[in-house]
Amino acid sequence: MPVNTIKVQRECIDITGFTCNKCKKTYSVDSDEDSFGFGEEFDDMHQIDFVAGYGSPFGDGMKVSATICRWCLYDLIKEFAHIRENGYNA
Ligand SMILES: [Zn+2]
Repeated sequence: MPVNTIKVQRECIDITGFTCNKCKKTYSVDSDEDSFGFGEEFDDMHQIDFVAGYGSPFGDGMKVSATICRWCLYDLIKEFAHIRENGYNA
């Protein structure tokens, strides 16, 4: 089946690292590379991004976002999180 094509040039953005909003530490893609070529710390970058609902302590309709490293996320939720083995197979 013939496919119609068009040549398009797009801009790409490579993420090279992130700075944790809590501890302010910067992690790069190259730091502590794992077997996939990414920094282990970079693999566990957590992005929280939502719009607060009615009655939220953040304020109705407020946009809330944070980038958090694995260590700060662990400190924040370790007291109540459900942590199970075999997370890769879930
Ligand atoms: Zn952190």
